[in-house]
Amino acid sequence: MSFFRFTPAFANPQGSPIRELFPYLSRPGMISLAGGYPSPSLFDQEGLATAAAQAMTTGATALQYGATEGSPALREQLAAQCQARGIRCAASDVLVTTGSQQGFDLLLRVLVQPGDVVCVETPAYPATIAALRQAGARILSTPVDGDGLNVDALQVLLEELPAHERPRLLYTVPNFSNPCGTLLTQDRRTKLVQLALQYGFVVVEDDPYGELAFTDQRPAPVYAAAQAWLQAQGGEGENPVVYLSSLSKTVAPGLRVGWMVADPAVLRRCTVAKQTNDLCTSPLAQAVAASYLQSGRYAQAVAAACAEYRRRMQALTNGMKAKLGNLVQFVQPAGGMFVWLTFDKGIDPQKLFDAAVAANVIFVPGKAFYADNADLHSMRLSFAAPDVVQIEQAVERLAQAFAQAR
Ligand code: PMP
Repeated sequence: MSFFRFTPAFANPQGSPIRELFPYLSRPGMISLAGGYPSPSLFDQEGLATAAAQAMTTGATALQYGATEGSPALREQLAAQCQARGIRCAASDVLVTTGSQQGFDLLLRVLVQPGDVVCVETPAYPATIAALRQAGARILSTPVDGDGLNVDALQVLLEELPAHERPRLLYTVPNFSNPCGTLLTQDRRTKLVQLALQYGFVVVEDDPYGELAFTDQRPAPVYAAAQAWLQAQGGEGENPVVYLSSLSKTVAPGLRVGWMVADPAVLRRCTVAKQTNDLCTSPLAQAVAASYLQSGRYAQAVAAACAEYRRRMQALTNGMKAKLGNLVQFVQPAGGMFVWLTFDKGIDPQKLFDAAVAANVIFVPGKAFYADNADLHSMRLSFAAPDVVQIEQAVERLAQAFAQAR
């Protein structure tokens, strides 16, 4: 018996399934298709150094505590980002968060009680599953297909649920999802909004990858679809969508700068929750981010990232088509950092993982992305960090591993 009496959520803590792969990463010669880390070669170090120097010239502001909502200059810049994505919003609609991860945590604190039902598109981002478990939510896995969240299947699920089992929240990554890389169609975005209003659940739209598009065909955020729907109904009404985004994948995760756009009542409560969480996101990081966005280098940096990630994605998917053939199925992503792979049931998932590690290539086994009923014959591959040459080698190694695991 421990002296410490831990809360039920932390009685038997399970660390992140992805972080558990870290020991393998330090093996000499290992090529990792595992982590969702952006490529360090794409960090605009020069632009960020200039922005950091600039941040230090803002008097003591960047070194002092700041408003919990975020610095006015950064909120202004982030509102402009949202407008460029199709969301109508002002600086006052933006709450700066310490990464978008914090935004989700704040929402759980203000909207979810233990025992509440939360729908999660599945397979799902593992930290979302973990945060929901810590909050004591009952997770209802909701299926996805090649076009993202399967909204028709969601509707059937909602129709069948008794009223007291209805979800409070639904979590989705509509743009180039983690882990599936899929893009939710415009029709599904509108239908999702209608279902949210009909059944009374909040849609958490987590959008860290939307800027990393490989084509210019990208629907506006679900948040914007809700604004358009509410307007077409003749009134403004309360937007059932909460929009989360981040500079982690486009500028640098080390900044720990994300943001939330939501109805004022939600934003106010998340702000109060954040007051007891970290008081404010690092004013120094915010000043660097604001100054970087003001510098005008962002668009160019994002365009360079999109072009490079597209090359890497093509190296991976072309290589797999050539070397793995019909042993695997996947949807070629139109953006982001990930490919979701399902493989032949005749292949033993554990043998495959062991053979891959032995061949010096690593991926995240699919079971990390399920709250229940995992499809073990699946995996997530990230093409963000390794370069094209490494990706080609990684595919050769994966092919060897598949041959051994058959
Ligand atoms: N949501 C998703 C879907 C992610 O993939 C990630 C990062 N892996 C996050 C949120 C967290 O991002 P941030 O660095 O902004 O906290």
